[in-house]
Amino acid sequence: MSLVKNIFLNFSKKIPVGILKKISPIDIYLPYQHLIREAHTSYISHLYPFKNKKQFETDLDYLLKNFRIADIDQLVSYVKRKGELTPNQFLLTFDDGFKEIATVIAPLLYQKGIPAIFFLNNDFIGNNQLFYRLKISLLIEELSNKPQLASVFKKYFENSNDLNSILNQLKKTNQFNQSILDNIANEIGLDFDDFLKSEKPFATKEQIEEIVKMGFYVGGHSLSHPYFELLSEAEQYRQAVDSAKRIANEFHQKYTLFAFPHYDNKIKTKTIQKILNGGVDVIFGIQNQLPELQLRMLHRFNAERPNITMEKQIKAEMLYAALLKRAGKFSVKRN
Ligand SMILES: [Zn+2]
Repeated sequence: MSLVKNIFLNFSKKIPVGILKKISPIDIYLPYQHLIREAHTSYISHLYPFKNKKQFETDLDYLLKNFRIADIDQLVSYVKRKGELTPNQFLLTFDDGFKEIATVIAPLLYQKGIPAIFFLNNDFIGNNQLFYRLKISLLIEELSNKPQLASVFKKYFENSNDLNSILNQLKKTNQFNQSILDNIANEIGLDFDDFLKSEKPFATKEQIEEIVKMGFYVGGHSLSHPYFELLSEAEQYRQAVDSAKRIANEFHQKYTLFAFPHYDNKIKTKTIQKILNGGVDVIFGIQNQLPELQLRMLHRFNAERPNITMEKQIKAEMLYAALLKRAGKFSVKRN
């Protein structure tokens, strides 16, 4: 993390939350994360960090003490401009549908009475398919355990003279060139199918049904988690609307919810309007709490860095949003 960011985080943490609530223009606080796990995980750790259960519980207790639990009916009617929103609510969201949503997260939230939305990728439910991003992490794990494998990796990437350029190119692999990942795995004797069958990283349909029975919400997160900017507009529409509608139907949801995979800043206004017209009630992005209600969009913030507590992160979001608002920059720029 940059020094400036660190100084900002430490500075904002010193401000009492009561003062930040008065100056923050944020309508509802929306953290996002993926999973809660105790230790290094070969298929995730090379992609992004995550918190452990103790850190997660500390975060939850902070939120419960200082913010209100979200009322999702109220939130949807607010987004649809049909009602007001009680201030200082928080709503947790979790992306990608890992098995930990059922084994760790939902039980803990249920116990504490905290609602959440779980955004799911239709193709990964039940472990029928291995997400290409997990393949990337698994390959990096192999490479870090056996540096002598670098010569195999080099064959697949141009200008890959050092380890860093191999890693950079590996991490950029997308839905269209993911066969590179399969080919490397084949050559180094790493069996993705075996991994999928033994580890089962994603929640099953039955587990999701349990979560829904507990009162949690689920939404679509695209069919197969592609990079949207590489897709045609029609395919972007299908990945969003089909995913959200199928999840809503299959799990008997009151609302059709969708969260863009990866990032949303490259999606055109016109495409988002079509997705809304296709029957999606509310869309979630990740542009740090900026308002975009004209597109029925809510923007979330990353809350999964283990060295930043929820208190520190949310206070920084509040102060930063207040400063942006003062500077006339508290809005999303979209083509
Ligand atoms: Zn995702």
